[in-house]
Amino acid sequence: MLSYRFILVLLLLSINLPKGNLMQKAEWGFYSHKLINRMAVCTLPDDLMTFYRSNLDYITSHAVDPDKRRYAVKGEAIRHYIDLDYWSRLGYSNWLKDYTYAMILTNRFYIERGEMNLLLFDTLAVAQGIQDSVFFSTELIQSKIADAHGIPLSDLHSAFLKKMLPVYDSELWKVSGDDLREVIPFIESGDIVKIDDRFTAHGILPYHLERTYNQLVDAFRSKNKTRILRLSADIGHYIGDAHVPLHTSENYNGQLSGQEGIHAFWESRIPELFAEAEFDFVVGPAMYISDLRSFIWKIIMDSNCEVASVLSTEKKLSQITSPDQQFCFDERQGNVTKIQCKDYAKKYHLLLDNQVEERMRASIIDLGSVWLSAWIDAGQPDLNFDSSRDQTEDAIGLDSLIPVSLKLKIRDHE
Ligand SMILES: [Zn+2]
Repeated sequence: MLSYRFILVLLLLSINLPKGNLMQKAEWGFYSHKLINRMAVCTLPDDLMTFYRSNLDYITSHAVDPDKRRYAVKGEAIRHYIDLDYWSRLGYSNWLKDYTYAMILTNRFYIERGEMNLLLFDTLAVAQGIQDSVFFSTELIQSKIADAHGIPLSDLHSAFLKKMLPVYDSELWKVSGDDLREVIPFIESGDIVKIDDRFTAHGILPYHLERTYNQLVDAFRSKNKTRILRLSADIGHYIGDAHVPLHTSENYNGQLSGQEGIHAFWESRIPELFAEAEFDFVVGPAMYISDLRSFIWKIIMDSNCEVASVLSTEKKLSQITSPDQQFCFDERQGNVTKIQCKDYAKKYHLLLDNQVEERMRASIIDLGSVWLSAWIDAGQPDLNFDSSRDQTEDAIGLDSLIPVSLKLKIRDHE
């Protein structure tokens, strides 16, 4: 078995994935995302590996679909990151694992009654663990609309799930007062509760990973080959992003520390230069994940722990390296591009103690484990599809429907 896997690894590595022309404007680099999806197939047990191997080209080439959608599909861009350090600094770390609580405690709720528009809750004390009831805001109490009591957090949680989230709108999020009268005692008919979403713009990667996983389990359960392939490729992309330290930081491109461009330096330039020749991608067999949420958050926390070294190592290296040894000129697709020199990249890579390689290796084994677990959670369905009803073409067709002419304004995350 080992030699078989070894041969497969050689086979996969021998396939020359295009690099330079695809490396420019991409997270983990298009090249790295494709490599991670492709190599994860090697971690699977025989039954599953047979299925994924027979669709290897699809799984590989569609590893970058989520990045292509970022500019075309509303709500896609925020699925690729979470500003964990931003929320930790504000004291919300203990609440982030649960999406609903994170939303409740970070968003702002306002009550609109005629001309009046007042803050409804003061959630900070709950977020800091001081109390377990949500108190009404000082301005609401002073205006004598509310008394000094609050409502239990659990009541707000349940109302949020039932009445507020179903009418979510990132731009204008309003809930009729009538829908909240059971929970908020003083609310009158005609009142409107407006919610200012201050959470999602800072990224929803871990929650979206959980959601995509559940969709993949459903796809396996219903034996929908098109969806299995599309979601397997997609989740590979998000798992890859979750392993990139700067995808968990508000300083995602070094813009807060005078290191603009470090995002692509770490996740694109280094793999492009060294992955095939130097990285070891034999990572062992995929394992079943018994607690998916903890598994996802461990990835995110591990990535976040590396943010400081990603930034400080480059900062120190740049201070002892002359600018002409940091940046070289490279020709790509007929364009001359200023990019980090190979020697400079090599020094950075070694000073990081092979961190980029380790995060790529972790991406591969973790992706294999996610695919395996989704299949097991779905009851290990037989994946011998009738080849005469091969749906792969449909899956490819779906992606071609993305309106490339529609360009959304999103965070520049490269
Ligand atoms: Zn991405």
